[in-house]
Amino acid sequence: MTGLLKEKNILIMGVSNKWSIAWGIAQSCFNAGANLLLSCQDERTEKSVRDLTCDMEGVKIYRCDVTDDDQIKDMFDSIEKDVGVLHGMVHSLAFAKKEELEGFYYNTSRDGYLLAQNISSYSLVAVTRHARPLMIDKGGSIVTLTYLGGERAIPNYNVMGVAKAALEASVRYLAMDLGPDNIRINSISAGPIKTLAARGVRDFTTMLKQYEEKIPLKQPITQQEIGDTALFLLSPLSRGITGENIHVDGGYHVLGV
Ligand code: NAD
Repeated sequence: MTGLLKEKNILIMGVSNKWSIAWGIAQSCFNAGANLLLSCQDERTEKSVRDLTCDMEGVKIYRCDVTDDDQIKDMFDSIEKDVGVLHGMVHSLAFAKKEELEGFYYNTSRDGYLLAQNISSYSLVAVTRHARPLMIDKGGSIVTLTYLGGERAIPNYNVMGVAKAALEASVRYLAMDLGPDNIRINSISAGPIKTLAARGVRDFTTMLKQYEEKIPLKQPITQQEIGDTALFLLSPLSRGITGENIHVDGGYHVLGV
Protein backbone atom coordinates (compact mmCIF):
# COMPACT_ATOMS: atom_id res chain seq x y z
CA MET A 1 0.00 0.00 0.00
CA THR A 2 3.04 2.24 0.33
CA GLY A 3 2.93 5.25 -1.95
CA LEU A 4 -0.85 5.35 -2.53
CA LEU A 5 -1.02 8.81 -0.96
CA LYS A 6 2.51 9.98 -1.79
CA GLU A 7 2.73 13.80 -1.67
CA LYS A 8 -0.99 14.06 -0.88
CA ASN A 9 -2.05 16.48 1.87
CA ILE A 10 -4.54 14.72 4.11
CA LEU A 11 -6.34 16.45 6.99
CA ILE A 12 -7.53 14.11 9.73
CA MET A 13 -9.89 15.55 12.35
CA GLY A 14 -10.57 13.73 15.61
CA VAL A 15 -7.36 12.18 16.93
CA SER A 16 -7.28 12.50 20.69
CA ASN A 17 -5.37 9.42 21.88
CA LYS A 18 -3.91 6.12 20.68
CA TRP A 19 -7.32 4.42 20.79
CA SER A 20 -8.98 6.97 18.47
CA ILE A 21 -10.23 5.60 15.15
CA ALA A 22 -8.70 8.72 13.61
CA TRP A 23 -5.30 7.58 14.88
CA GLY A 24 -5.66 4.26 13.03
CA ILE A 25 -6.54 6.24 9.90
CA ALA A 26 -3.60 8.60 10.43
CA GLN A 27 -1.20 5.65 10.64
CA SER A 28 -2.54 4.02 7.45
CA CYS A 29 -2.27 7.34 5.58
CA PHE A 30 1.21 8.09 6.93
CA ASN A 31 2.45 4.63 5.90
CA ALA A 32 1.03 5.29 2.42
CA GLY A 33 3.19 8.41 2.09
CA ALA A 34 0.65 11.14 2.97
CA ASN A 35 1.62 14.56 4.32
CA LEU A 36 -0.43 14.45 7.51
CA LEU A 37 -2.34 17.40 8.90
CA LEU A 38 -4.06 16.57 12.18
CA SER A 39 -6.63 18.67 13.97
CA CYS A 40 -7.59 18.32 17.60
CA GLN A 41 -10.29 19.81 19.73
CA ASP A 42 -8.41 21.59 22.50
CA GLU A 43 -5.12 22.11 24.33
CA ARG A 44 -5.32 18.78 26.16
CA THR A 45 -5.86 16.70 23.02
CA GLU A 46 -3.22 18.73 21.19
CA LYS A 47 -0.65 17.77 23.81
CA SER A 48 -1.60 14.10 23.51
CA VAL A 49 -1.40 14.27 19.68
CA ARG A 50 2.03 15.97 19.84
CA ASP A 51 3.27 13.09 22.04
CA LEU A 52 1.75 10.48 19.69
CA THR A 53 3.34 11.98 16.58
CA CYS A 54 6.76 12.92 17.97
CA ASP A 55 8.48 10.31 15.74
CA MET A 56 6.49 11.16 12.59
CA GLU A 57 8.34 13.61 10.40
CA GLY A 58 6.51 16.58 8.88
CA VAL A 59 3.16 16.17 10.64
CA LYS A 60 1.31 19.47 11.07
CA ILE A 61 -1.05 19.92 14.01
CA TYR A 62 -3.95 22.37 14.22
CA ARG A 63 -6.49 23.12 16.91
CA CYS A 64 -10.17 23.33 16.01
CA ASP A 65 -13.31 23.04 18.10
CA VAL A 66 -15.97 22.40 15.45
CA THR A 67 -18.67 24.24 17.42
CA ASP A 68 -16.80 27.50 16.72
CA ASP A 69 -17.05 28.88 13.16
CA ASP A 70 -14.09 31.22 13.74
CA GLN A 71 -11.85 28.30 14.74
CA ILE A 72 -12.92 26.37 11.63
CA LYS A 73 -12.13 29.36 9.40
CA ASP A 74 -8.78 30.01 11.12
CA MET A 75 -7.75 26.37 10.70
CA PHE A 76 -8.51 26.30 6.97
CA ASP A 77 -6.80 29.69 6.49
CA SER A 78 -3.69 28.25 8.17
CA ILE A 79 -3.90 25.08 6.06
CA GLU A 80 -4.15 27.16 2.88
CA LYS A 81 -1.09 29.16 3.97
CA ASP A 82 0.86 26.03 4.95
CA VAL A 83 0.11 23.63 2.07
CA GLY A 84 -2.23 25.38 -0.41
CA VAL A 85 -3.98 22.26 -1.63
CA LEU A 86 -5.92 19.59 0.26
CA HIS A 87 -6.33 16.15 -1.33
CA GLY A 88 -8.24 14.46 1.46
CA MET A 89 -10.09 15.11 4.70
CA VAL A 90 -11.29 12.70 7.38
CA HIS A 91 -14.05 13.76 9.79
CA SER A 92 -13.80 11.33 12.71
CA LEU A 93 -15.51 13.11 15.58
CA ALA A 94 -18.74 13.08 17.50
CA PHE A 95 -20.12 14.04 20.88
CA ALA A 96 -23.27 13.62 22.97
CA LYS A 97 -23.81 14.13 26.67
CA LYS A 98 -23.42 10.94 28.66
CA GLU A 99 -26.94 11.27 30.09
CA GLU A 100 -28.39 11.20 26.55
CA LEU A 101 -26.71 7.87 25.80
CA GLU A 102 -28.82 5.74 28.10
CA GLY A 103 -32.43 4.85 28.76
CA PHE A 104 -35.38 5.99 26.67
CA TYR A 105 -34.78 8.09 23.54
CA TYR A 106 -37.99 10.01 24.25
CA ASN A 107 -36.26 11.59 27.26
CA THR A 108 -33.72 13.35 25.03
CA SER A 109 -33.50 17.03 25.97
CA ARG A 110 -33.65 19.80 23.37
CA ASP A 111 -30.13 20.94 24.34
CA GLY A 112 -28.78 17.40 24.20
CA TYR A 113 -30.35 16.79 20.79
CA LEU A 114 -29.00 20.03 19.32
CA LEU A 115 -25.52 19.52 20.80
CA ALA A 116 -25.22 16.00 19.35
CA GLN A 117 -26.41 17.21 15.93
CA ASN A 118 -24.14 20.25 16.03
CA ILE A 119 -20.90 18.41 16.82
CA SER A 120 -21.56 15.02 15.25
CA SER A 121 -23.43 15.97 12.09
CA TYR A 122 -23.52 19.70 11.20
CA SER A 123 -19.73 19.94 11.64
CA LEU A 124 -19.26 17.80 8.51
CA VAL A 125 -21.16 20.39 6.46
CA ALA A 126 -19.18 23.28 7.97
CA VAL A 127 -15.73 21.76 7.43
CA THR A 128 -16.63 20.54 3.94
CA ARG A 129 -17.61 24.08 2.92
CA HIS A 130 -14.15 25.30 3.96
CA ALA A 131 -12.26 22.32 2.50
CA ARG A 132 -13.95 22.63 -0.93
CA PRO A 133 -11.93 25.62 -2.26
CA LEU A 134 -8.69 23.81 -1.35
CA MET A 135 -9.82 20.59 -3.07
CA ILE A 136 -11.63 21.83 -6.14
CA ASP A 137 -10.66 19.92 -9.32
CA LYS A 138 -7.85 18.13 -7.46
CA GLY A 139 -9.73 14.86 -7.13
CA GLY A 140 -10.35 15.49 -3.43
CA SER A 141 -11.88 12.87 -1.16
CA ILE A 142 -13.72 13.30 2.15
CA VAL A 143 -14.48 10.49 4.61
CA THR A 144 -16.62 10.54 7.72
CA LEU A 145 -17.32 7.93 10.40
CA THR A 146 -20.71 6.57 11.26
CA TYR A 147 -22.27 3.60 13.06
CA LEU A 148 -25.07 1.09 12.47
CA GLY A 149 -27.13 2.99 15.07
CA GLY A 150 -27.82 5.53 12.29
CA GLU A 151 -29.72 2.85 10.35
CA ARG A 152 -31.24 0.76 13.15
CA ALA A 153 -32.49 1.43 16.67
CA ILE A 154 -29.73 0.25 19.02
CA PRO A 155 -30.34 0.42 22.80
CA ASN A 156 -28.74 3.46 24.47
CA TYR A 157 -27.22 4.85 21.25
CA ASN A 158 -30.30 7.10 21.09
CA VAL A 159 -29.52 10.71 20.17
CA MET A 160 -26.24 9.71 18.55
CA GLY A 161 -28.07 7.30 16.24
CA VAL A 162 -30.27 10.16 15.08
CA ALA A 163 -27.19 12.37 14.56
CA LYS A 164 -25.56 9.57 12.53
CA ALA A 165 -28.69 9.24 10.36
CA ALA A 166 -28.41 12.99 9.62
CA LEU A 167 -24.68 12.61 8.96
CA GLU A 168 -25.31 9.79 6.46
CA ALA A 169 -27.97 11.88 4.69
CA SER A 170 -25.52 14.80 4.58
CA VAL A 171 -23.01 12.55 2.81
CA ARG A 172 -25.54 11.92 0.04
CA TYR A 173 -26.41 15.60 -0.40
CA LEU A 174 -22.75 16.65 -0.27
CA ALA A 175 -21.87 13.96 -2.84
CA MET A 176 -24.45 15.53 -5.17
CA ASP A 177 -23.04 19.05 -4.57
CA LEU A 178 -19.36 18.17 -4.80
CA GLY A 179 -19.31 15.69 -7.68
CA PRO A 180 -19.07 18.42 -10.35
CA ASP A 181 -16.00 19.80 -8.49
CA ASN A 182 -14.35 16.36 -8.75
CA ILE A 183 -14.62 15.91 -4.98
CA ARG A 184 -15.94 12.66 -3.51
CA ILE A 185 -17.42 12.05 -0.07
CA ASN A 186 -18.22 8.73 1.63
CA SER A 187 -18.80 7.33 5.08
CA ILE A 188 -17.42 4.31 6.89
CA SER A 189 -19.82 2.55 9.22
CA ALA A 190 -17.40 1.05 11.73
CA GLY A 191 -18.04 -1.89 14.02
CA PRO A 192 -17.77 -1.14 17.75
CA ILE A 193 -14.29 -0.38 19.08
CA LYS A 194 -13.45 0.51 22.67
CA THR A 195 -12.58 4.23 22.44
CA LEU A 196 -13.21 7.20 24.71
CA ALA A 197 -16.33 8.21 22.73
CA ALA A 198 -17.70 4.66 22.68
CA ARG A 199 -17.30 4.30 26.43
CA GLY A 200 -19.80 7.16 26.84
CA VAL A 201 -22.60 4.85 25.62
CA ARG A 202 -24.22 2.98 28.50
CA ASP A 203 -23.53 -0.79 28.48
CA PHE A 204 -21.11 -0.39 25.57
CA THR A 205 -19.20 -3.46 26.83
CA THR A 206 -22.35 -5.59 26.58
CA MET A 207 -22.97 -4.28 23.05
CA LEU A 208 -19.38 -5.15 22.13
CA LYS A 209 -19.71 -8.66 23.60
CA GLN A 210 -22.94 -9.39 21.67
CA TYR A 211 -21.32 -8.13 18.48
CA GLU A 212 -18.22 -10.28 19.02
CA GLU A 213 -20.35 -13.39 19.54
CA LYS A 214 -22.25 -12.92 16.26
CA ILE A 215 -19.90 -11.23 13.82
CA PRO A 216 -19.53 -13.35 10.63
CA LEU A 217 -15.78 -12.70 10.28
CA LYS A 218 -15.31 -13.83 13.92
CA GLN A 219 -12.63 -11.20 14.59
CA PRO A 220 -13.59 -7.85 16.14
CA ILE A 221 -12.77 -4.84 13.98
CA THR A 222 -9.54 -2.97 14.60
CA GLN A 223 -8.50 0.66 14.06
CA GLN A 224 -6.09 -0.61 11.38
CA GLU A 225 -8.89 -2.18 9.33
CA ILE A 226 -10.86 1.05 9.42
CA GLY A 227 -7.64 2.95 8.65
CA ASP A 228 -7.02 0.85 5.54
CA THR A 229 -10.59 1.33 4.28
CA ALA A 230 -10.21 5.09 4.78
CA LEU A 231 -6.94 4.89 2.85
CA PHE A 232 -8.79 3.17 -0.02
CA LEU A 233 -11.51 5.85 0.02
CA LEU A 234 -8.93 8.66 0.07
CA SER A 235 -6.89 7.13 -2.75
CA PRO A 236 -7.58 7.01 -6.51
CA LEU A 237 -8.43 3.29 -6.12
CA SER A 238 -11.95 4.39 -5.11
CA ARG A 239 -12.28 7.10 -7.79
CA GLY A 240 -15.68 5.80 -8.96
CA ILE A 241 -17.25 5.87 -5.49
CA THR A 242 -19.12 8.76 -3.88
CA GLY A 243 -22.13 9.12 -1.58
CA GLU A 244 -21.51 5.58 -0.32
CA ASN A 245 -21.61 4.11 3.20
CA ILE A 246 -19.13 1.25 3.56
CA HIS A 247 -19.62 -1.06 6.53
CA VAL A 248 -16.34 -2.11 8.11
CA ASP A 249 -17.88 -4.28 10.79
CA GLY A 250 -16.90 -7.84 9.96
CA GLY A 251 -20.27 -8.36 8.26
CA TYR A 252 -22.40 -7.71 11.35
CA HIS A 253 -24.83 -5.40 9.48
CA VAL A 254 -26.07 -8.20 7.18
CA LEU A 255 -27.36 -10.26 10.11
CA GLY A 256 -31.01 -10.22 11.09
CA VAL A 257 -30.06 -10.03 14.78
P1 NAD B 1 -12.63 9.25 20.13
O1 NAD B 1 -13.12 9.68 21.47
O2 NAD B 1 -11.23 8.79 20.05
O3 NAD B 1 -12.84 10.39 19.05
C1 NAD B 1 -13.85 11.34 19.13
C2 NAD B 1 -13.21 12.66 18.76
O4 NAD B 1 -14.19 13.69 18.68
C3 NAD B 1 -12.18 13.12 19.80
O5 NAD B 1 -10.94 13.29 19.16
C4 NAD B 1 -12.73 14.44 20.28
O6 NAD B 1 -11.72 15.38 20.60
C5 NAD B 1 -13.53 14.88 19.06
N1 NAD B 1 -14.48 15.94 19.37
C6 NAD B 1 -15.55 15.90 20.22
N2 NAD B 1 -16.12 17.11 20.28
C7 NAD B 1 -15.42 17.93 19.43
C8 NAD B 1 -15.51 19.31 19.09
N3 NAD B 1 -16.43 20.11 19.62
N4 NAD B 1 -14.60 19.80 18.20
C9 NAD B 1 -13.65 19.02 17.66
N5 NAD B 1 -13.51 17.71 17.96
C10 NAD B 1 -14.39 17.18 18.85
O7 NAD B 1 -13.66 8.12 19.65
P2 NAD B 1 -13.80 7.34 18.26
O8 NAD B 1 -14.58 6.14 18.59
O9 NAD B 1 -12.49 7.22 17.60
O10 NAD B 1 -14.75 8.30 17.44
C11 NAD B 1 -14.44 8.77 16.13
C12 NAD B 1 -15.66 8.66 15.22
O11 NAD B 1 -15.94 7.28 14.98
C13 NAD B 1 -16.93 9.26 15.80
O12 NAD B 1 -17.68 9.88 14.76
C14 NAD B 1 -17.68 8.03 16.29
O13 NAD B 1 -19.07 8.23 16.39
C15 NAD B 1 -17.33 7.07 15.16
N6 NAD B 1 -17.58 5.65 15.44
C16 NAD B 1 -17.05 5.06 16.54
C17 NAD B 1 -17.30 3.70 16.78
C18 NAD B 1 -16.74 3.03 18.00
O14 NAD B 1 -17.25 1.94 18.36
N7 NAD B 1 -15.72 3.55 18.65
C19 NAD B 1 -18.08 2.97 15.89
C20 NAD B 1 -18.59 3.59 14.76
C21 NAD B 1 -18.34 4.96 14.55
